[in-house]
Amino acid sequence: MTPVESFRGETVAVFGLGGSGLSTVKALEAGGACVAAWDDSETSREAARQKNIELVDLSQSDFSQYRALILAPGVPLTHPEPHWSVKKAKAAHIPVIGDIELFCLERQRAASNAPFVAITGTNGKSTTTSLIAHLLSVSGRDVALGGNIGTAVLDLLPPSLTRYHVLECSSFQIDLTPSLAPSVGVLLNITPDHLDRHGTMENYASVKERLVASAELSIIGIDDDWCRAIAKRRRDGGRPLITLSLNDHEDADYVIQGSIILKRSGTEFKSIIDLSSVATLRGTHNAQNAAAAIAAVSALGLADQEIIKGLHTFPGLAHRLEIIGHLGRALVINDSKATNADATEKALLSFSEGIFWIAGGRAKEGGIEPLSPLFTRVEKAYLIGEAAQDFAATLGGRVSFEISGTLEAALVKAKHDAQVSRAKEPVILFSPACASYDQFKNFEERGNRFRALAQSQAEFRPREKGE
Ligand code: ADP
Repeated sequence: MTPVESFRGETVAVFGLGGSGLSTVKALEAGGACVAAWDDSETSREAARQKNIELVDLSQSDFSQYRALILAPGVPLTHPEPHWSVKKAKAAHIPVIGDIELFCLERQRAASNAPFVAITGTNGKSTTTSLIAHLLSVSGRDVALGGNIGTAVLDLLPPSLTRYHVLECSSFQIDLTPSLAPSVGVLLNITPDHLDRHGTMENYASVKERLVASAELSIIGIDDDWCRAIAKRRRDGGRPLITLSLNDHEDADYVIQGSIILKRSGTEFKSIIDLSSVATLRGTHNAQNAAAAIAAVSALGLADQEIIKGLHTFPGLAHRLEIIGHLGRALVINDSKATNADATEKALLSFSEGIFWIAGGRAKEGGIEPLSPLFTRVEKAYLIGEAAQDFAATLGGRVSFEISGTLEAALVKAKHDAQVSRAKEPVILFSPACASYDQFKNFEERGNRFRALAQSQAEFRPREKGE
């Protein structure tokens, strides 16, 4: 845990008692603050009581007695409208901040040069964050990995000059972190998302920009207009900057060509790695994530050899093009995190042929029509969940398909069909392009179910080392 000493002897309000809220209360108390904690949900309040946290009904309190309101990132700060606790804090003129801000204050107070990498972007955050942490840790560094992924930041060990904090930051968290000034700030990309919580694209992009605005070094993907403009502002301001692009040789320091990452060296580019031999980083999107990670850890002093070696041992993340193993001839991939067509597009692009595609669930707007240029890669589709009829209408006449209904039925049929495919290595790809809520609690439960089903088949062979 990182005890928060910055509020010693003062009283602080904490609203939102999920995982990070509970850890915030404990960290503030450990640092000598007095905490008034509350949540609108009785279930969350009960979980807090179980942890011996004393509750104060903040809706009845006078906020001028509090030094700050620490808000959980899931609670609306500005849109669609500020939560009542935010309105009370603003009326009392006290700051509204989050747990990553508390971490930043502790870092400033106790070890202001402690290495700290912060990562954001609309897509690719978790992969890039885990990869940076992996590369640092296999090179013998002491790494604390968390934030929006895995462990809440205040549950990690405290910042120190020899410990590398690698934190994934969502836009909601950045919005609550005015002192965010990492040693390295990584901004991967910005595309429309969470506009219900940020109002407009301008507002969403300006929140994301704050992650790099005060970074000592920023690493920015420049393939969308928002990020390109942010990078330009950094460059015009004379701030240290490394840029990444899929196609722009003029402005980029790292260029991604298919699976190859090239690095600028004077006016030339030299290839630093071909990721086609790293099965856990399939796809151009992952090459972008890898380029960002390489740039970050190089800046932190890792040698090229250490980095290349580390990339080859990256285990990958569950539910994102996760390699499960083989069913007979077919490679089995769990991409349950793909809850929309954009994410599934990345998956279909990662395999050139012989795809036995399991898709469906609760459909998102636009369905799978945007994927039609990639339908030629699909040998057959197996449709499940509420979206099955709609997807069938989109596929009709273009791709062979069947309505399987359930994940179980889809997997068994796909396994059977894949054995007689003409493709060199057929792929059973579970990339639903849908939310999971019609049949599962969340995408993790859905992916775990798929993995367990594959592993329970008689023909199952686990993933081999290096695969
Ligand atoms: P996040 O944490 O931002 O949600 P993840 O690393 O968990 O990102 O990846 C989630 C999905 O986003 C992946 O399954 C893939 O479809 C897509 N994705 C990953 N990296 C990128 C990228 N660099 N650019 C575009 N899409 C990406």
